[in-house]
Amino acid sequence: MENNYTRGLHELGDGLFTWLLPNGSWGWSNAGLVAGDGRSLLVDTLFDLKLTQEMLDGMKAVTSTRPISTLVNTHANGDHCWGNELVTGAEIIATDACAAEFDEMPPSMTQQLLSTEWGDPVVEEYMAAFTAFRFDDITLTPPSRTFSSELTITLDDREIHLLEVGPAHTQGDLIVHVPDASTVFTGDIVFVNGTPLWWAGPLDGYIRACDVILALGADIVVPGHGPVTDNDGVRRVKAYLEFVRTEGTLRHAAGMSAVDAARDIDLGEFGEWTDAERIVTNLHSLYGELDPDYVGPSLEDSMREMAHLANHFASA
Ligand SMILES: [Zn+2]
Repeated sequence: MENNYTRGLHELGDGLFTWLLPNGSWGWSNAGLVAGDGRSLLVDTLFDLKLTQEMLDGMKAVTSTRPISTLVNTHANGDHCWGNELVTGAEIIATDACAAEFDEMPPSMTQQLLSTEWGDPVVEEYMAAFTAFRFDDITLTPPSRTFSSELTITLDDREIHLLEVGPAHTQGDLIVHVPDASTVFTGDIVFVNGTPLWWAGPLDGYIRACDVILALGADIVVPGHGPVTDNDGVRRVKAYLEFVRTEGTLRHAAGMSAVDAARDIDLGEFGEWTDAERIVTNLHSLYGELDPDYVGPSLEDSMREMAHLANHFASA
């Protein structure tokens, strides 16, 4: 599938589909569709209403006879749930922890971040990537049913397993496993050819989430961002997380700041992924775990740091 990474609907087989949005960078996320005999389950909506409407229209060949009765949100980041209001009449399921942080970073706050006067052309250019999306017309539509640990959904005669794997990428991550199709939709536990990001940690939880996916032994792994993959793609994410833990812990012990560490670490093959500059935010999260008194940057300062690191990598 990696050579078939194009925008739109892709059939995975057995009544499963994914909607892909290349290139998988900030806000360009994937969704999934599982069809039963007379109903469907949607995994995630997209970052804004226009993108989500385009997707729902593109899924009509399936959903006109098998309407979406269940919407599952893998986590509370906007690029996975801000189109929820367009999926009318469906039950919306997420974890308790996802529901608890659902409005922590609402569309209005993102809009506000985008109208920040940065006074810095490097940051302005970096933040321009978000102008592809529209946030001022979104009504936050939270889950209507929540659970913790595990939940099995029966869609006609098909079983779908929701497994809580957070805290990992966020506090409330879940994955969607469809055993009869040997497929798992991972949300942002898995990024393919893009750099994973975690704002809070703990990192061990994120690594454990990768292990949960690997143990399922699914043939098809649909990531939250990037092309469809298999367990090799999950192993690459895990390798990156372990790499950041090892290299970051060394530099923390040596008294190096997260910003300096991010420039010092040789990313090797991971440097070829998009958004490699996320390592600085990941290091702040790691430092926060290593030292409970650590004070990380504000969201604005995180964006500044990533913008400058991206600029540094591009000119290196
Ligand atoms: Zn995402």
